[in-house]
Amino acid sequence: MNVKIKKRIIAKKRAEELLEYAIYNSKNNVPLSIVQANIIKNLCTKFNVRLDFSNRMLFCHKCKRFIVPGFNSRIRLSKIRKSINITCLFCGYSYRKMIVNSQT
Ligand SMILES: [Zn+2]
Repeated sequence: MNVKIKKRIIAKKRAEELLEYAIYNSKNNVPLSIVQANIIKNLCTKFNVRLDFSNRMLFCHKCKRFIVPGFNSRIRLSKIRKSINITCLFCGYSYRKMIVNSQT
């Protein structure tokens, strides 16, 4: 296996582990969770890692901040479009994920 691919796999694993800690700390220790989220973002950009949708929706698409559902983001289901509507409560930007023929 290529070294580059190996590095990418390790980076993804570490980013997902760190994300669990960041979500846990977002309830008690908010500054620490922000630092951890910044580390995750840097890790993903450095090694060109793409997280799964369930992890990617924890970062706002516009302002790129760490948003946790129930604390600083709102998630609603749309009956008309059959989609998940995610709203960032920092900048007010909302985006949709269609769930009709989605794999995730
Ligand atoms: Zn935002």
